[in-house]
Amino acid sequence: MNGESWRRIATEEAFATRELAGAMRRLVDAGGSSVDLMFWRGLLFREDDDRLANLLDLDERRLATMDANGVDMHVLSLTSPGVQMLDPAEAAEIAADANDQLAAAIARHPGRYAGLAAFAPQDPEEAVREMERSVTRLGLNGFIVNSHTDGEYLDQPKYWPILEAAEALGAPIYIHPRSLPDEAVGPYRDHSLWTAMWGFAAETGLHGMRLIVSGVLDRFPKLKIVLGHLGEGIPYWVYRIDHMYPKMARRHPVRIELAPSEYLKRNFVITTSGMNHHPALEYCLQVLGPDNIMWAIDYPYQAMDEAVAFMDGAPISDADRRKIYSLNALREFRITG
Ligand code: MN
Repeated sequence: MNGESWRRIATEEAFATRELAGAMRRLVDAGGSSVDLMFWRGLLFREDDDRLANLLDLDERRLATMDANGVDMHVLSLTSPGVQMLDPAEAAEIAADANDQLAAAIARHPGRYAGLAAFAPQDPEEAVREMERSVTRLGLNGFIVNSHTDGEYLDQPKYWPILEAAEALGAPIYIHPRSLPDEAVGPYRDHSLWTAMWGFAAETGLHGMRLIVSGVLDRFPKLKIVLGHLGEGIPYWVYRIDHMYPKMARRHPVRIELAPSEYLKRNFVITTSGMNHHPALEYCLQVLGPDNIMWAIDYPYQAMDEAVAFMDGAPISDADRRKIYSLNALREFRITG
């Protein structure tokens, strides 16, 4: 506990296992033009880059940086694109092993870590088994999905068992960015637009919007979805989405029961990962309220000290700061340690 009246719980903190890094290395070595592999090429081979070392460490190195910055807890998740580019059998095996390693790290360092379980959407039946094991046997706190899988999104019926399981287990799905699918990334390849500068939010915001307008949140009304980067742009557009949806609804086989903004408030929680910008935070607080926002650093891709300075210095009430720093994460992820 830092000296304040709240714990600082960071909710989008990445790690990698050696097994995942090995599998991604094999994909990179095999060639291919997917921009996710460009991202991994950077992690694996860029000199003067300690991101991979930081991803692989769940002990002294990470905890020392957390301590130096007054960060009490990391909610850990397997880094992008997780196992979602691997063949289904290997993906399931690496996800289950990553979840075991995650649970072991949480047990080694009580009170310092919580964790989101990985699974392989490629095989929804197996995914559901791993989701159940992760929560009921390993005690993990939610799930991580790195946006699309082979260009498909979680609103598509083959993935409904995954949404159903998350709802039944009462555990949120954090939809984390990855690059746009090969068939959509074309114009984003120029000027680095495929990256975290813009393309990741375009992809992940699309995923969030698909969940809202497809009707799956009427089918699974208690499902909780977490979006990073202050909601991947959706909160900024919410007036226009509400305004335009009814004009488009007659084209749709399924009409959603509520206004899009009502799903955003009911089913989504957003985090501040990589968005250390006070005007954007104040806007989101005004639109979504203080119960729907959690703090995140996005370690090791973003600096811990900047995220702490941003949240410590945010021009908001201490009651709201306490919710964003800790209370909302404790509630949503059912953190008990
Ligand atoms: Mn991230």
